[in-house]
Formats: sequence, C-alpha cells, structure tokens
Amino acid sequence: MTWRTHMAGEPRKELVGKRMTLAGWVARRRDHGGLVFIDLRDETGVSQLVVNPDRAPEATKVAHELRNEFVLQAEGELVARSQDTVNPRMTTGEVELQVDRLEILSPSTPLPFQLDEEGVDETLRIKYRWLDLRREKLQRNIRMRAKMISIIRREMDAAGFVEIETPIMAKPTPEGARDFLVPTRLQKGRFFALPQSPQIYKQLLVISNFERYYQIAKCFRDEDLRADRVQEITQLDLEMAFPDREVIFELMERVFSAVWLECIDIALATPFPRMSFAEAALRFGTDKPDLRYGLEIEDATQATRGSQFGVFANAEAVRFLRVPQELSRSELDKLEEVAKSWGAKGLAYLVYDEEGEARSPIAKFLSEDEFAVFRSDPASTVLFAADRPAVAARVLGALRTHLAEQLDLIDTSLWRPVWIVDFPMFDWDEDAQEWTPNHHPFTSPTPATEAIIESDPGAAVAQAYDLVVNGTELGSGSIRIHRRELQTRIFDILKISPEDQRSRFGFLLDALGMGAPPHGGFAPGMDRTIMLLAGEPNLRDVIAFPKNQAGVDPMSGAPSDVTQEQLVELGIELLEPPG
Ligand code: ASP
Repeated sequence: MTWRTHMAGEPRKELVGKRMTLAGWVARRRDHGGLVFIDLRDETGVSQLVVNPDRAPEATKVAHELRNEFVLQAEGELVARSQDTVNPRMTTGEVELQVDRLEILSPSTPLPFQLDEEGVDETLRIKYRWLDLRREKLQRNIRMRAKMISIIRREMDAAGFVEIETPIMAKPTPEGARDFLVPTRLQKGRFFALPQSPQIYKQLLVISNFERYYQIAKCFRDEDLRADRVQEITQLDLEMAFPDREVIFELMERVFSAVWLECIDIALATPFPRMSFAEAALRFGTDKPDLRYGLEIEDATQATRGSQFGVFANAEAVRFLRVPQELSRSELDKLEEVAKSWGAKGLAYLVYDEEGEARSPIAKFLSEDEFAVFRSDPASTVLFAADRPAVAARVLGALRTHLAEQLDLIDTSLWRPVWIVDFPMFDWDEDAQEWTPNHHPFTSPTPATEAIIESDPGAAVAQAYDLVVNGTELGSGSIRIHRRELQTRIFDILKISPEDQRSRFGFLLDALGMGAPPHGGFAPGMDRTIMLLAGEPNLRDVIAFPKNQAGVDPMSGAPSDVTQEQLVELGIELLEPPG
C-alpha cells in the first residue's frame, strides 16, 4: 500500500499534469462558493488542494466533514494556479492539486489550541505536546537540534573519540546540585542517584585506556527551574588522556564552528579569544561576559583613596560604568532598585547634562583629580559601586546587562565566543563557613599554585575553563587531578572526612592509584547551544518533551503516585501523603 506518491512540499510547476497522491494533516480548510480549498501539511511543507463539486462530488462531501488536523489522503491532478492566485510565500504556491478522491485516514477531536495561535499557556502546550510539536517553530528547533547532534558526532568520531554510554543509575557525582534518587527493590533502603554528569565514569574510561571518550549524555540536576534551566539536560561530554588544554580548545572550536556554519550559516572566527576569570570580573562583572557591546566596567579604587566622599574612601573597591545617556531621576531610582537586588547598599551617580555639567549629590565631595577620572561625554551618566570587589563586580555586571538591553546596545547579529580561563580553585561559602570547589572537586590546581592550596585556598588557581557565547555559558571543563595524593588533599580542604572519602569516592581513589594518565575534558550543554542557535529564549522550546516550570510533566502526569505495594516492595514509607 502506498500512502502517497509525493510529499506535500514537493509539487512544483514542472510537475503540472502529473497525477499524485498526497497524505498529511489539514492545516486549514476554506469554503469558497462551491469550491473547497485545503492546505495539506506534512513534514516537508504545505500543498493546496482544490475540491470542485462538479469534478468530484464524493470528495466534496468528505471535504465538508474536515476539521483542522484531520489526517487526510488526497488523490488528483497537479494543475497550475491562475496568475492572480499564485502564492509567492509558499514554495508550492504556483500549483495546486485538483482532487478526485479524498479519504479521511484519521479524524481529530476539537483542538485545545490552534497551531497558529500565539500566547498559548505553556502548561497547556506541554500537555498536548504532540500538537505543539507540529508547530513550525518547534519543528525547526527540534530538527536543528538533531542536525547539531549529528554534526557533533561526525566531528568527534573524526577526531578519534569513541562514544561510550555510562550508567543512568549511578552513585552521586558532585556537580553542585541536589541528586535525584532511585530506590531499588533488591537493596531496600539504598538508593542509586541519577548522574549530575558522567564525570567520574569518564575519568575512569580514560584511565581504562579509552584515551578519547565522548557521549551525548543526559544529566540530572535537582535545581530550581528558570527560563534557561531545566532539571534534565543533555551534554556533549568528553574526556581525553594526556590532554593539552589547547587540543581541547581547538577541537571544541572546530566542532562549534561546524555547527554554526551548517546550522545557521555563520562562520565563527577562530581561535576564540581567551580572558581570565579575574579580567572578566573586573571588566564585565561576571564570568559570562557578553562581548557584543562595550559598556565596560572601569576601576577607580586607586583614584578614590583618600576621597572626601567617605563611601568611596572606605570601600575595598570603587568601580564605575559610563552610560551613554543622561538618565533621569526616576530612571536612576529604578536602577538603584536593580543594584540593591544584587547586593548594593545604594547607587551613587554623576549625571552629565547636554552642556557637560555634572549633576549629583556627591559632586561636592569629589576632588579635581577624581573628576578627571570620571569625566564623561555630555549627556551621559556615571554609575558607581563601592563595596567588596566581588559585590562591586556583581552589581555593575548586572547593571551592565540590564542597561544594554534597556538602551538597545546589543547588536544581535554578532557572535562573540570567549574562553574564560584561570578560575579560582575554591569559593568561600559564608553560610557553611567552608571552602567549596568553584568547578568540581576533581579539577586540578595550576602547577604554580598547587603548593598553596592548603595555606591560601582562596588564591589557588584551577586549570578550569568555560566557553561563553554572547553572555551564555555553554560549557565547562578542566584538567583533572590524576595523582591520588593530590585528590586526597583536595578532599581534605573540602572537609570531606577520610571515611567519607572512602565511601563516596573510594573507587576513584583506587583507580587514581593504579596508573591514571593525566587527563582532562569538557562538557558543553546541548540545550543551551541549540537555544542560542535557534534564537530561542525558552529552553523548554528546544526539548521535545520538557517538564513545565514547576518540574512536572503535564502530559503524562509524572511524577505520579505509586501503589502501596510498590512502596512496600521498596521498603519505603511516606512521611506524608503526596501533596
Ligand atoms: N562534568 C562537568 C560539568 O558537567 C564538566 C567537565 O568538567 O567536564 O560541568
């Protein structure tokens, strides 16, 4: 049985006169006097069908029963459209199928939303995802995603990387999020964890003489959800023995360039520039700088030592942004709110009017020398942060992104990848009063700072790197620790007791003790990458079956209740009935 002789995207002028059978979905039906017009859609495109009651009375009866999204088979003859009915916006717009026979292969109940409807509630869209996925935008995103993955596989295979799957039911891997746990009937009271990443497995693979491993891996992180964050992510996970950071950078630049070129016809300039974490913090106030626009942060710490303005004189760091606009009082108030939400105590400013006169409550405290540093063009505003260096960076970094959007400073046609390098090894956790790894605990310090990891953890530099594109972090990686003794020292600094080191990471420590080669790797996020490529602000719109904002799947109802018998079998008793 042949369902169709041609695809709906195929009919062209050259095929006029041919008999053909098409099959697909009813995108639209219009009754025009006696004639019925149907837009028939399949995955290749849309063709117009014309049903003429004089030519095909039976088909006309069927045509009147049709509703949107019925599945239809149509047989007829391809004819040219008259000049005035040609539709130049459709690739099939010069022709139409004169129908002789129509058959409904599958009807549809009334739709919860129309495919061309804007602003449909997201939970409703996910609930009826099979409909939502028929929309043009989602079709495009999901197909581009498939193309990206196939380019990546091709490039990784060509570079000699071997694709190896690792377990989904595993032991917790610390990547900084909470674990999803899986109970098991055969070991009551014990739990597998879904991998936050295949981090330890990939290290074990290179220790096992698979010198170049990769995988398109699912990672699970029980985190709070945001527009650009879901709990189930896909990474291109890779690891290599005897690594050289340059080899990893060059490989990733090749892979990303191929993806950009073949998916969206953009040639990325390589090599990607590099910037240290410290420089990124100083100039852009973040480790994910968006380099598509200027508005760089400047430092005035030295210039304000001994300032008459006490807030400046007493602050560890004084930094500022020159905004190319004379901001009004109410705009400044709003920006102050933004600054406060990022931890600032207030927002000092200098406004230069059209004549270049400075207006500010703090102007009277500032010396000639200070003014010389801050002097800006007429019709501009200088915004200050005076605080601890990390807070000043964070506040001005947030204001910089906020203002770039508000003042429309971003050239959205640009692509600006950058490697961020030389991250700190550890961050100080104020609440817990302890050091935490900036990346993960398997990251190696630089040879130059290895000696000070205990004496001055805050100054130790990690051999870690991130790839950032247009202000979005696409991936992280590092050169790993391959000496057992160094791994133990890091665990000690992280206050993981020897017993915990054994029970949580004993297998890794044992493997590191049995001939572990130097190794390192990287893991770019596939969901975020496709989001950027597709210009899609919502991460869920690049995933075929996402959970909604609350982490629930409204389509299947997962997560769902389980029976009492299942719980008993697992040895689990609920503290409360499910909420
Ligand atoms: N496993 C790390 C992550 O998921 C990446 C890496 O270090 O390769 O962020």
